[in-house]
Amino acid sequence: MITQFLSYEHDGNKAIKTAAKILKKGGLVAIPTETVYGLAANALDKKAVANIFKAKGRPQDNPLIVHIADYDDIMDLADYIPFTLMQLAKAFWPGPLTMIIPKSEKIPDIVSGGLNTVAVRMPSHPVARKVIREAGIPLAAPSANISGSPSPTTAHHVMHDLNGRIDAVLDGGECDVGVESTVISLADDKPILLRPGIITLEQLSEVIGHIDVSEAVINKLNDNKSAPSPGMKYKHYSPKTKIIMIKTENDEDFIDYVNSMKDKNCGVLCYDNETEIFKIPSVTYGQKGDYDSQAHELFDALRKVDDLSVQTVYVRCPVPQGVGLAVYNRLIRAAGFEVITI
Ligand code: AMP
Ligand code: MG
Repeated sequence: MITQFLSYEHDGNKAIKTAAKILKKGGLVAIPTETVYGLAANALDKKAVANIFKAKGRPQDNPLIVHIADYDDIMDLADYIPFTLMQLAKAFWPGPLTMIIPKSEKIPDIVSGGLNTVAVRMPSHPVARKVIREAGIPLAAPSANISGSPSPTTAHHVMHDLNGRIDAVLDGGECDVGVESTVISLADDKPILLRPGIITLEQLSEVIGHIDVSEAVINKLNDNKSAPSPGMKYKHYSPKTKIIMIKTENDEDFIDYVNSMKDKNCGVLCYDNETEIFKIPSVTYGQKGDYDSQAHELFDALRKVDDLSVQTVYVRCPVPQGVGLAVYNRLIRAAGFEVITI
């Protein structure tokens, strides 16, 4: 299959129309969103959705997020609309928040991974919104990468992973946020945070009160424990190089530890302007103390780690609070939960 490269910058609405036409016919198009690039297909077309799983090599029990452009589009997807969804939609949609609610019969089982719930999001990216409106259908779209590798934040990342496996990529520039949406389940009485993102637990709680945090957000799930969000069971975001997270009280301990690894075929994932402190090869991911910028850079940095051609890369453990919780959640998975405390 030849993957068409469509450019919104060059072709504007013509590129949108081509993307929408492919989607309406049951094809796969990677589209930009404000979080990461999504691999989109008609959410109501079982066959089209099955091809998403094939192209990504995604496990079949890992459900997909359904993307809509207008609030009324949700009526067709939901069995009923929880009041908390209305409150959160008013505060954060369109935007990087995914809400899980009881699904309607229209949602094929393959979209929901056999669960009786569906994950819904209204992205704010103008190109994503135009494509959904032009296609006139809800779009199921997981991240547009090969399963397990870092999520794509540029059209170039998508081509690297999926060239020849999907019908088209619509280039809409670099994604603003850089990590996937916050996921909250509203399907039961108690709301529960399943995946942290740029919209923080604290921001959500201001609107709907107390929210439980799923154990799987920061901990490795026991093999026989079922995950409330199936995606959390899998190793994720991983470069080929081994990543190890280092927990330390202070910067000096981290610097000393990493520098003691000189001559041991190691590298470091550090903040901007820190490269000279370290005596081993480095990749940077955003400003120290600025979690938004770290989230923005993280996946590109994880892709660059393999270019260092070292065996192991050390990264400092972020503070798991606010947007830092999202950075922590991705990094601990990239590290396969391997942490050294010093
Ligand atoms: P991705 O689209 O690759 O960013 O992943 C979507 C995430 O949302 C995965 O972790 C899924 O397991 C999770 N998810 C999607 N639908 C549901 C659902 N109905 N219930 C629980 N988690 C879900
Ligand atoms: Mg993903």
